[in-house]
Amino acid sequence: MLINRIQLLITIALIAVTGCFSITPSNSKWDVVLKTEADIPAALAAMTLEEKIGQMVQTDVASATPQEVKDNYIGSLVTLTPKGDMGTAKIWRDMVDSYQDAALNTRTSIPMVFGIDAVHGHSYFDGPAVILPHNIGLGATRNPRLVKKLAQMTARELSATGIRWTFSPTIAVARNIRWGRTYESFGEDVELQKMFASVMIEGYQGTDLTGDCSVGATAKHFIADGATDNGTDRGNATISDAEMRSMHLPGFIDAIENDVTSIMASFSSVNGEKIHGSKKIITNLLKNELGFKGVVITDWEGISSSGLTMKQGLHAGIDMFMFAVSWKKSLPEILKLVKDGDVALSRIDDAVTRILRMKLKLGLFEKPLSSSWSITEIGSQQNRDLARQAVRESLVLLKNSNNILPLSKHTKIVVVGPHANNVAYQCGGWTKKWQGAHLDRFKNPARPVLGATSIISGIKQLIGENNVIDAGIDGFEASVDTAIIIVGEQPYAEGFGDRPAKDLILLPEQSALIKKYHDAGKKVVVILISGRPLLVNNELVHSDAFVAAWLPGSEGKGIAEVLFGDYNFSGKLGFSWPRSADQIPIHVGDENYDPLFPYGFGLKYALKP
Ligand code: BGC
Repeated sequence: MLINRIQLLITIALIAVTGCFSITPSNSKWDVVLKTEADIPAALAAMTLEEKIGQMVQTDVASATPQEVKDNYIGSLVTLTPKGDMGTAKIWRDMVDSYQDAALNTRTSIPMVFGIDAVHGHSYFDGPAVILPHNIGLGATRNPRLVKKLAQMTARELSATGIRWTFSPTIAVARNIRWGRTYESFGEDVELQKMFASVMIEGYQGTDLTGDCSVGATAKHFIADGATDNGTDRGNATISDAEMRSMHLPGFIDAIENDVTSIMASFSSVNGEKIHGSKKIITNLLKNELGFKGVVITDWEGISSSGLTMKQGLHAGIDMFMFAVSWKKSLPEILKLVKDGDVALSRIDDAVTRILRMKLKLGLFEKPLSSSWSITEIGSQQNRDLARQAVRESLVLLKNSNNILPLSKHTKIVVVGPHANNVAYQCGGWTKKWQGAHLDRFKNPARPVLGATSIISGIKQLIGENNVIDAGIDGFEASVDTAIIIVGEQPYAEGFGDRPAKDLILLPEQSALIKKYHDAGKKVVVILISGRPLLVNNELVHSDAFVAAWLPGSEGKGIAEVLFGDYNFSGKLGFSWPRSADQIPIHVGDENYDPLFPYGFGLKYALKP
C-alpha cells in the first residue's frame, strides 16, 4: 500500500516536471489480466504512454524485426511483403509466431494482430491458395449465400497461415468505371453493396470470432471512395449529403450491425475534405452517429499520402495507423504530440480501448500463436470447387447469335488470345503482388499462381486435348469452324488502372484478332477478361457470342463448364455497359438511361435437346 502511494507521488512529480505520462516504469510488474472488455480500463491505467502508442502502430513485416516490435511495443503487422521463400503455411506461421513471441515477451504481453489484403482469397500467399473472382464478378453472381461461403473459405485458408485479419470486403459503390478500383466493387448501385457487405463479413468472422478458422473483417474504404470526380483514385467526391447517405453509407451501416472488426479510412476526400483528417466523417459520423465500436485504421501510409499531419489524423479519430514503412519517424511524432498536450490522452485511450477490444474479440489473449487446424484446406479440391462455382455464376453472356452457345464438346475448336493461357491476367491485381502476378509495371518479376487452371487448360480438361488447337497469343487456325478468343485488360491496382473514358477499349491487336477470325468466316466466341465494362461495340459486331468474364481468379475451368453446356449462364451485370465514351459515367436510374446493356442484363442460352 505504502509502496503504491510512493509510486503515485513519484508519478505525479514526474508528470509535473516532464509532462510525461509514462506512469509505469517498463520493468515494473504487470498484473492486469485481460480477459473481457471490463478489464480494459485497468489495462489503460497500467500502460505507459509508449505502450499505448505502440498499440496504435501497424507496420509492414518488411519494415520491422521482431526485436523492433518488442522494443517499441508495436501492436500490429501487415504481412504484405515478407522476404524470402514464403511458399508454405508453416513458413508463414513461423514468421507470425516469431513476431508474436516478441510481443508476448514485452512487459504487458499484449499480443499482436496480423492483417493482410486477402481481397479475393488468400491471394498474397505464395502457396497454392485459391484465388477467387474479384468483387465485380461476385456481384454478377447475385448469390449472397455463395459469397458468404467463399468468405468462410478464405478465412480458413488465412487462419492456417497465422493471419487473423483481412482488409476486406471493399464495399465501394464504384460510380465511374474509369476508376482503377472498379473491379473491387460489387457494382454501381447500393443494391449490391447491401446484398454483399454483411454476408461477406459474416463469412469472414463466423459465429465465433475467437475460433481458429475465422478472421476479423475490414469494411473499406470509408466513405464514398467510388464516388470521386471522374473516377480518380484518391480523388475528391463532390457529393450531396443525401447521395452519400443513400448510395454509399448503407453497406457500412450493415457492416457495423454485423460487428465488423475494423473500418479503413479512404484516401479520398468528400467535398474537399480529406477523410483521414476529417473529424466530421470519422468521429462524428462513423463513431458517434453510427456507433461504430471497432478500430478505424488508416490506409497504407494514409496520413502522409493525404498530405495531413499526425495531429489531424488523431483529432479526426483514427485508431490504428498503417505506418507501413514510416513507423520509425511517425511513432515518435505521435508520442511528442501527446506529451506536448496537443492531443488529449483520452483520444489515445479511445484508440487503445478499441484495439484491445478487437484483440479480445479475436481471442488473441487466449490463443496468441498460430494454429494449423485448417491447413489441409489450403487449395483443397473442395475450395477449388466452390471457387469454380463462383466463376460459373459470375459470367455474363452479352450476345449469343443463332444460339452458338453452348458449344459441342465433340467438335474441334481453336483457342487463342493473350488471356487464354495466362493465369496472372485472369487473376488481376492484388494477386501475389500489389499490381498482379505478372511481370508488373515496376519490373517486379512474375510470381506463380500455384494450383491455378488457365482458361485454355480448363477447356482442354473438359473437352479433351485432342479437341483443342492452341493458337497461342495471336495465331490463326484455318482448319476449324469455331474460335474461342480470350482477350482483355492487363492487371492493375488502384490509380494505375484509372483511364480516360475513350481508353476503355481493347488493344488494337486484340480487336484485329477478333476481326481476323470473323472475316475468315469462323464462328467467334469472345471471352473478355476485364475489371470493368469496356467499349467493345466493334468486337461485338465481329463476334457470334460474347462473354464478360471479369477477373475470374484461379479456377479457369469454370468458364469451360458454362461454354460447353454443363451449366447455363446466370450472371447479371452489376454495371451498366456504356454505348460510347461520352456516356461514361452511366448508372441505372439515370434520366434518359440508354446503355448498350443495362444493369441487371445477362442472357441464358437455350438448352439444346
Ligand atoms: C489500399 C488498401 C489496402 C492497403 C494495404 C492501400 O494502398 O488502398 O485497400 O488495404 O493499401 O495494402
